[in-house]
Amino acid sequence: MFDKLRQKLSRTRELFSRIEQLFQSTRPQEEILEELYELLILADVGVKTTDRIMAGIKDRARKSGSPDWKELLRQELVALLSRQPAAASTSWPAVWMLVGVNGGGKTTSAAKLAYRYQAEGKKVMLAAADTFRAAAQEQLQLWGKRLNLPVIQGQSGADPASVVFDAIQSFKARNYDLLLVDTAGRLHTYANLMAELEKIKKVISREIPGAPQEILLVLDSTIGQNAIVQAREFNRFSGITGVFLTKLDGTARGGSVLAVVEELGLPVKFIGVGESEKDLIEFSPESFVEALLS
Ligand code: GDP
Repeated sequence: MFDKLRQKLSRTRELFSRIEQLFQSTRPQEEILEELYELLILADVGVKTTDRIMAGIKDRARKSGSPDWKELLRQELVALLSRQPAAASTSWPAVWMLVGVNGGGKTTSAAKLAYRYQAEGKKVMLAAADTFRAAAQEQLQLWGKRLNLPVIQGQSGADPASVVFDAIQSFKARNYDLLLVDTAGRLHTYANLMAELEKIKKVISREIPGAPQEILLVLDSTIGQNAIVQAREFNRFSGITGVFLTKLDGTARGGSVLAVVEELGLPVKFIGVGESEKDLIEFSPESFVEALLS
């Protein structure tokens, strides 16, 4: 898993390997720190989070009396990412919602989660609560066939909450373990969207006490700092439990993980590193930082 992470993060690692080279240089410390700042910004860590990291490593250097910048940076990044618990819920039966703008990777991420928990022996069901986009429902159906699991969908234009209600009845009757609810992600009817998500959530918690155990905000890491803007908007919808950060393969903007955790106070729980159902990695601060810096 670690090797896969290293390989998939290769573009972001290119930037971080420049940090390594930098630490090996004999240039004055001030210059090294200045360039470190620039490289973190290039990796899309964002100004605010970069400032925090720089202050953090200087503080650590002062306290430890040893300017081993690579080690201090490693410690600082792990500490930053560990502030929020990254482990996903392990309570079953469970209903998890996926929210986020269209194109971010919700449907693909639902399929990845389904595959991940099926492999653990869980009975997984999908609900297509984006009833306005026929393509979204079709795509989920295709994943359902491929992974051999049921996909509950409604009539085109049906009330998404009623589709979720039906899905839950089937979920309970068939004794399934995990229901993954793929939701709509239109932004132009923003107030409606938020109201719709609240309604879906209410139906879920009424039908299954304690659910939804996870409401994962699916964010596209390739849009860099815009992911933060998007996340802030979605964070107004109550109860987001964590982030599924997608498309970390092939982007040099892997630093956005740090910005998401630091600026939104939301844990990253899963990362997507490709288009196949197998391309999911459970986020671990230590492994992530190790993959970037080793
Ligand atoms: P949705 O509209 O939010 O449901 O997004 P989709 O699941 O349809 O994904 C949009 C596009 O992003 C598709 O072409 C996916 O194959 C692609 N995609 C999703 N996750 C990843 C990922 O982790 N890596 C890569 N490279 N592509 C991804």
